[in-house]
Amino acid sequence: MTRKLYYEDPYISEFDAEVVSCEEKNGRYIAVFDRTAFFPTGGGQEHDTGTADGITVCDVYEKDGVVFHELNAPLTEGKTVFCRLDFDRRFSFMQNHSGEHILSGTVHRMLGYNNVGFHMGSDFVTVDFDGPMTEDQILEAEEKTNDVIFSNADILTYFPPQKELDSLDYRSKKELSGAVRIVEIPSVDICACCGTHVKKTGEIGFLKVVEHMNYKGGVRLFILSGKRALEDYRKKNRELYRISTMLSKKPFQTADGVEKLIEDLSQKKYEYSLLSKKYAENTVNNTAETDGILFFRNDGADSDFLRLLALSASKKCRTAVVCSQDGDNSVRCVVASEKTDARTVFKALGDTFSGKGGGKEALCQGMLHTSADKIADFIAKL
Ligand SMILES: [Zn+2]
Repeated sequence: MTRKLYYEDPYISEFDAEVVSCEEKNGRYIAVFDRTAFFPTGGGQEHDTGTADGITVCDVYEKDGVVFHELNAPLTEGKTVFCRLDFDRRFSFMQNHSGEHILSGTVHRMLGYNNVGFHMGSDFVTVDFDGPMTEDQILEAEEKTNDVIFSNADILTYFPPQKELDSLDYRSKKELSGAVRIVEIPSVDICACCGTHVKKTGEIGFLKVVEHMNYKGGVRLFILSGKRALEDYRKKNRELYRISTMLSKKPFQTADGVEKLIEDLSQKKYEYSLLSKKYAENTVNNTAETDGILFFRNDGADSDFLRLLALSASKKCRTAVVCSQDGDNSVRCVVASEKTDARTVFKALGDTFSGKGGGKEALCQGMLHTSADKIADFIAKL
């Protein structure tokens, strides 16, 4: 059994340990120390990282009470090594794990729901509850959680004797083997947990539910606490001020500004579609009617306009072909017909100029690998 310094004092960030064993496995080295402050992955919390005598500790896991450290170089057995944790990462886990306990306890007291899934990754913390929540209920739970955080209450961790444990009403009361570790925030929450926690709720800073979604008949909340919540706030603040500057609106008027922009854009799109239709009709107006093929070229036009032009032109001929030369060897092409099958001419073009695309009897469109001039020459001979 490894002596678990992270349970004795979760604030230990540096320590000396004796290397009990170190074995090579798939190019990595798995070391066991007589004691460790490196928390192994478990209970929804990711493992710690850091160094042992300058060697990187990449992964930490526990099996039958023994903590294994995965290293990228070997250590000598029997040697005493100096270990250092990435304590910023660990402290962030402590803030977020403790924040999650308060929120889960609060939701449990408010609605009787259980926390049925908890994951604390490097980017996000998610917690799943086995019942639905309205936005107002989520806000209320967040508010109550922060009240507990601001009250700077104690967070107690202990291994109660079996008799005491049996009489204790705690969350996650399931079949647990061995000693059960309890994390208690008096009059807020009691829960079985193997993770690392801050000692006072005030250290969490604050907790924010940043997103929520329906999940397996219940709800999944994305939460952030402490430094991570602050970093999220900073990023969103920067983004908001960028938008605010671009819109020339105050930060809290940006949503109205964007709404107005979307309305304007949709009006402009409508006006553009009317003008495009008119322009397409005017373009073909002076063209004489024919039983043959009419060819139009309009480089740089968008695909909507090419289609409008082809449809307008198809009223004056057997088949209309409209092109836009986009690159040296690429041409967007639309073929339309009211009198015959547009696919006949489109297939002939595709076979000759290795094109791709397709369509129906009235209209086909695609890309051809050639120049618009060559298409004009080809059509003149049809
Ligand atoms: Zn926990």
